[in-house]
Amino acid sequence: RIVYVNEDYLPEEEARVSVFDRGFVMADGVYEVVSVLDGKLIDFDGHQARLKRSLEALQIRNPLSDEDYLAAMRKLVEDNDITDGTIYLQVTRGNPGDRDFAFPPEDTQPTVVMFTQSKPGMADSPAAKTGWKIITTEDQRWARRDIKTVQLLFPSLAKMEAKAKGADDAWLVEDGKVTEGTSNNAYIVKNGTIITRELSSDILHGITRAAVLRFAREAQMKVEERSFTVAEAQDADEAFVTSASAFVMPIVAIDGAQIGDGKVGSVARRLREIYLDESRKAAI
Ligand code: PMP
Repeated sequence: RIVYVNEDYLPEEEARVSVFDRGFVMADGVYEVVSVLDGKLIDFDGHQARLKRSLEALQIRNPLSDEDYLAAMRKLVEDNDITDGTIYLQVTRGNPGDRDFAFPPEDTQPTVVMFTQSKPGMADSPAAKTGWKIITTEDQRWARRDIKTVQLLFPSLAKMEAKAKGADDAWLVEDGKVTEGTSNNAYIVKNGTIITRELSSDILHGITRAAVLRFAREAQMKVEERSFTVAEAQDADEAFVTSASAFVMPIVAIDGAQIGDGKVGSVARRLREIYLDESRKAAI
């Protein structure tokens, strides 16, 4: 695989980042994951806008222009022959040359890394036809989940708890209400209304969430942005999650309780179709 590191394109074995890099010693960095379908980037502008928002929130200088990121991503897609897959992008505060809690001087060069992950046929994932089973667990992440930082240890632990229980993923719960999934936004459907938590610092502002809610409203579906409990979710007609890499993924069981008839719901199925169709059309 050819990967990108600080303006170089190198075989992955040759790419290097310093042991002092703030991303490595302090999780001082942010990331994005952009999907590729048919060799084209999905929702590039949305991911770029959120990247800038995350960087600003942490006062990390943005070392590249939108055009630079786009050109680099396109080159990686081409060099690695990616038809379907994802591009991972990470920007850290860089290498101060030592370890210190204080930020390094302003002129420290941020580190930028990008790599591709090939996932042939990812839009036709068999899981989307049967749906995921999930568990719920207490949300123990930090309080600024709207910043897409690389400190992913708690979501990783929650994912492992789900796997140990034979489930596909976990929904995180705070004060009795679902915040989001380990790496996706969470939704339920009740009497035709799509319900998903309102935007705040409690959740990541999903780029797929924004697109899916727009398509739902355009299709005259009712949308309510508010939090919901696990009990309400278990009693819903449908549940699903959204993310750049899973698109719209139906949920068929929560903590062992079957949702609806235990099969993929019609709203989730329809939203997945619309999202994939529209995103492919708008891909660049
Ligand atoms: N919430 C969390 C915690 C996530 O990690 C992600 C995916 N990175 C999402 C939601 C979904 O965001 P997006 O649709 O932009 O991929």
